[in-house]
Amino acid sequence: MNILVVCAHPDDETIGMGGTLKKLSKHHNIKVLFLSEGITARRKSGYVSTPQYDISHDEMKKMEKEIQTRKKHAKSALKLLGINKIRFLDLPNQELDQIPLLKIIKEIEKEIEENKITTIFTHHYNDLNLDHRIAYEATITAARPIPGSKISSIFSFEIPAATDWRKPYEFKPNLYVEITSELKYKIKALAAYHYEIRKSPHPRSKDMTEAVAKRWGSLSGYKAAEVFEIVHSRTSKFETLTF
Ligand SMILES: [Zn+2]
Repeated sequence: MNILVVCAHPDDETIGMGGTLKKLSKHHNIKVLFLSEGITARRKSGYVSTPQYDISHDEMKKMEKEIQTRKKHAKSALKLLGINKIRFLDLPNQELDQIPLLKIIKEIEKEIEENKITTIFTHHYNDLNLDHRIAYEATITAARPIPGSKISSIFSFEIPAATDWRKPYEFKPNLYVEITSELKYKIKALAAYHYEIRKSPHPRSKDMTEAVAKRWGSLSGYKAAEVFEIVHSRTSKFETLTF
C-alpha cells in the first residue's frame, strides 16, 4: 500500500497512530504530510487584512528556531517509527481557517497523485481543534472518489485532548489495530516531542497514552490497540482487501 498520513501538526501522527505506523512501515510506503508547523504564531490583530507578525525581530528568530526544533522532533519521532518521507507545508498554526481551503486541497491532491496513494489516515471530523477539522475536510475533498481514483480507504484517528474534548463526542471507532509489540515505540516516539508531553492525568501524558492503548485493547481482545473510524472503504475484489 502507498499510504498518506495528513496531520495538522507535528506530533498528531504519533499520538493518533504511532503504533500502527510502526506496524505498517515494515511493509508499506508511508508519507506524512504536516499542514502546519505547530508553533502558535503571535500576530497583529486584524491579521486577515494586514498579515504581519506583531513581534520583534528577535522574537521572530526565536519562533523560527522553535519551528525548526519541532521539525527535528518530528523527524526523530518518525525515524523511530520507520518513516523518512515527510513534508511540511508550513502553514500557520491554529490559523488554517485563514488559508483558502482549496490551496490545502490542491497540496493533498498533489501528494496523492505523485505518490500513487491508495490509503489515507487523517483527523476526525468532530474534533475540538479547528486545524484538525480543516485537515479532515481538505483530505476527504482531495480524496473524493472520482472515476479513476486509486484511493481505497480513508481512516480517521483520535487525538486525546482534542477529539475527545469535543462535545458531543462523536468518534466511533470500528477498526482496532493491535499494537502490543509497537506500544513501546509509540511511547519512545512521543518522548521525541518532549515539549508536547504533559503530566498525568492529562490525556497527552505517557501514562494516559498507555492507558488508552490498553483500554482499546480491552475492547478488542488485545493487550494494546489503536483505533480508527473507517470514513470510506471500497474494493473491486474482496480478496485484495489488505487492511
Ligand atoms: Zn494537532
